[in-house]
Formats: sequence, C-alpha cells, structure tokens
Amino acid sequence: MPEMLSKTKHAVVIAGAGPTGLMLAGELALAGVDVAIVERRASQELAGSRAGGLHSRSIEVLDQRGIADRFLSQGQVRQVAGFAWIPLDISDFPTRHAYVLGLWQNHIERILAGWVDELAVPIYRSREVTGFVQDDDGVDVALSDGQSLRTQYLVGCDGGRSLIRKAAGIEFPGWDPTTSNLIAEVELTETPELGLRHDAKGIHAFSRAEYEIRDGKVIYMDCGPVRVMVTEQHPGGAGEPTLRDLREALIAVYGTDYGIHSPTWISRFTDMTRQAAAYRDRRVLLAGDAAHVHAPAGGQGLNTGVQDAVNLGWKLAQVIKGISPDSLLDTYHAERHPVAARVLRNTMAQVALLGRVDERAKALRDTMSELLGMDEPRRRLAAMITALDIHYDLGEGHPLLGRRMPDLELVTAVGRLRVFTLLHAARPVLLNFDEPGGLDTTPWADRVQLVDAKYVGAWELPVIGTVAAPAAVLIRPDGYVAWVGDKTGQGLADALTTWFGPPA
Ligand SMILES: Cc1cc2nc3c(=O)[nH]c(=O)nc-3n(C[C@H](O)[C@H](O)[C@H](O)COP(=O)(O)OP(=O)(O)OC[C@H]3O[C@@H](n4cnc5c(N)ncnc54)[C@H](O)[C@@H]3O)c2cc1C
Repeated sequence: MPEMLSKTKHAVVIAGAGPTGLMLAGELALAGVDVAIVERRASQELAGSRAGGLHSRSIEVLDQRGIADRFLSQGQVRQVAGFAWIPLDISDFPTRHAYVLGLWQNHIERILAGWVDELAVPIYRSREVTGFVQDDDGVDVALSDGQSLRTQYLVGCDGGRSLIRKAAGIEFPGWDPTTSNLIAEVELTETPELGLRHDAKGIHAFSRAEYEIRDGKVIYMDCGPVRVMVTEQHPGGAGEPTLRDLREALIAVYGTDYGIHSPTWISRFTDMTRQAAAYRDRRVLLAGDAAHVHAPAGGQGLNTGVQDAVNLGWKLAQVIKGISPDSLLDTYHAERHPVAARVLRNTMAQVALLGRVDERAKALRDTMSELLGMDEPRRRLAAMITALDIHYDLGEGHPLLGRRMPDLELVTAVGRLRVFTLLHAARPVLLNFDEPGGLDTTPWADRVQLVDAKYVGAWELPVIGTVAAPAAVLIRPDGYVAWVGDKTGQGLADALTTWFGPPA
C-alpha cells in the first residue's frame, strides 16, 4: 500500500525521553540499531525536582559504557544510602563506587541526552504517541501531529501514567496511595529552618536546590529559591496542585505559610505502588516508571528504570539483528519483574516505618536503627537499595552466575585494563583466566570478545563476600555473568547459544 510505504520506519521506537528512554536509546544505538524516541516535552528541561541521585549499581552501569565520569564530575558524593531515613554506610562495599551520587534528575537527563545526541539518535519532540496497532511484522505508531511511524518494536518508557501500557491492555495491579506530599520550588518572605521535620502530620522539609556535602553532611547554600516538601493532610488530591494547596498544607503543619510566593513549579508525589503484570505484549515492551511506580523512599525509581533499559537494550538489539530468537525478550520480564517487585516491597516497608509518629512507632524505628547498625542487616538492605545484590536466576552454580561482574583490574596482552572498559561497546566478553587457547569460541567470534587475562586479587561480591576464583567468565553486555567456567569449558557452548545466538 502506498500509504504504508510513505511511513517513516525505525527498527525501534521508544515513547518517552525520560531517564529510561534515553538510556535504552543509547544502548540500542551503541549496538548499531536504528532507534528513535518520541517525546512530549519540547526540550529536556524538567519542570520540578524528581530523583536526587544515583546509586552504586547505576553508576557502575554508566561506568560500563565509559560515561560515569560525566555524572561524577557534576554531582556530590556521600558514603551513605538510606532506609526510611536511617543512614546505611556503604563505604566498605566492594565496588569502585561505594557511595551515593547526589545529582538532580534534570542534570542526569541533560547528561544522558548529550550522550544520546552524540550517538545520533533522532528525537521527535513536542509530540506524543497517541496510540498504536501491532501486527505480526511490526507496530504502527500514531503521533499527535498526525504522523505515523512504522517500527519492529515499540517500547513504552512513558512514565507512570503510560499510554503504551494502557493501550496494550496490560494490567497495573497494586495499592492506592495512603500518603501524599506536595513539593515545590518557591520564594518566601520569612525564613524557615532548613532541614527535615518528621512529626505526627508526616515528613516535611525545607531545603535549597544548591548544596554541598561537607564531612558527610548536606550544607545548603545561603541564597537561591527554597525547595519545600510538605505532607498533605488529605492524601491523593485530584488534579494539578496549586499555590493555594501548598499554602494550606504548610499552615496545617507549620502554622504559617512563611509568605510563600512566586513558585517555579509545584508537584505532588504519593506512595501509590503498582507494577505492570507483564513487561511485554508481543512487539510492545514497558520499562521504567511505565512498568513500576512506588514511593520515592530510598531513591530507587530512576535507578531501576535505567537498569531496566540496560537489561533490555542488548537483548532487543540481538533480536532486531536476527542474532537471537525473539524469545530472548521474555528473559527481560523474567529478570526485571522480580527486581522491581522487591523495590515495591521495600518502599512499602519504608512508608510503613515512616507513616506514624508516636511512641510505638518511635520504638519500632529505634529497633530498626539498632538492627541496621549491625553489619549483616546493614549490608543486606544497603545492597538491595543500591541494587548491588541483584541476582538473576540463571540456574545453580558458582555464586557469580547471574550476578554483576566486579570491575577487576586485569593484566592482558595489551596491558592492564579494567573489566568495565571491555564493556564500553556493549558487547559480550569471555574472560579466560586459564591457559590461553583452552576455550574455543570460533563460531561466536563475530559476537563475543575473548580475552585472556590474569587477575591475582580476591574475588569479593557485595553481601556474599569472597568467592572462589573462576577459570573463566562469560559476561553479558549488561555486566551480568552468564556462565562461570571450570578448567573444562563445560556448558560454554550452551551458554553462548542461549545468550548470544546459535553458532555461525
Ligand atoms: C519527588 C520524587 C522524588 C524522586 N526521587 C527519586 C530518587 O531520589 N531516586 C530515584 O531513582 N528516583 C526518584 N524518583 C523517581 C524518578 O523520578 C522516576 O522513577 C523516573 O523519572 C522514571 O524515569 P522514566 O524515564 O521511566 O519516566 P519519566 O521520567 O516519567 O519519563 C517519561 C517521559 O515520557 C514522556 N511521555 C509521557 N507520555 C508520553 C507520550 N504519550 N508520548 C511521548 N512522550 C511521552 C514524558 O514527557 C517524559 O519525558 C522520584 C520521583 C519523585 C516524584
């Protein structure tokens, strides 16, 4: 049909240029896939403050692509993660990034957008995806300007209210909000005390967007607009919040509105907790907030979305290129749904710990603080919040199987190099620590880099501790270990076929 022929085509269309969509676009472009993003916003400018930083595993995945320094140079490093505001020191974690990077979401998005731009990904801005129709060969994507795009796969990275999820008819079961907070950037005629307040009416804070970390403490700048967060006394107000709502909420908590005026933005967040029942419906996939929403406690939403993208990107690229069957895409749901389900549970637990302020609730928090002062509980919860403990179920075997590959410093024929450097191009790597020539990967030589290496130090995993040094490891482009070898190479051909397609 002539009409079909005139449609602009892309191998993948992503709805939404938030952190998840941008990361996914970068991953696909690195793999040489023709990808385009459709974004409602005219520019990357973000109205409102959302995520405040990056956790260790997210910094690691950016390091795996050689772009972590772009973020580190712009942010503030703190050695603590938190669970329901109880600080968890992570400075002893075996990672090069044993800290939280404080960096506002608008900066994170700006840096990601710069990377995606370098990779020449087209972004159709100032228009929305309004619907789609999928058939056996592809998806027709309708845009708000009347245009239509034809694509092999459509990925909904379009946030918590995802049109893609709704149009695909994917269920979003979970729990309605029990608390609701207003956040805003404003000017004040009176000066409130900056910092956090936790009282019978909820959690509230005054702060400034600009701050420094000194001796592990947040020090706010003396001037500039004030950021306010205040718990609403009636959760889940409908519609966009107004200055009047903010005034009323402040007076209910502080007895004054501090002469609040000239808001730059006002928004609302709640503890609504929901997760897509399926991350895939044939040629349509979901990632990021489109697939899971929860309270911001612990700062995990953006991080989980970025890591969804890194799990999905290389798989989708291999399917598009005909390297792998499209059943590889089912491993995306199988691996990432349980990860976000844990995030949902831990944020609900944090909200429960923070929700009440009376002597009994205080006793519970004190008990948790005491427990989290002990090494083992602290490590477990901090590894969960920072996502360093992710374990994809790839079967029985060595503890490295299905876990993140540590960024070891290797000695190779071309000199010393870090494992993560080998992942910059988002291609799989087989590291052989045994005698060179012992592993035959010839039929996969076009897809998998084989590197003979030596490493003399300990193999230490977060929470688990020291593990036996393997003779070889097969690392997926997302940095997770797909196979661990003894000296025989048994199972390698199967693992290569499962993850990187049949032999050539
Ligand atoms: C107050 C608050 C604090 C938070 N703090 C943290 C934190 O500290 N750490 C953390 O990790 N996370 C935090 N989060 C969560 C974080 O902001 C989100 O998880 C993150 O933005 C999700 O990224 P995303 O790309 O999946 O979705 P979004 O950021 O929502 O991006 C979706 C994009 O899709 C676009 N879009 C929507 N519909 C369409 C359409 N039909 N067509 C085209 N484009 C469309 C939107 O314009 C947007 O750009 C916080 C959130 C809030 C509200």
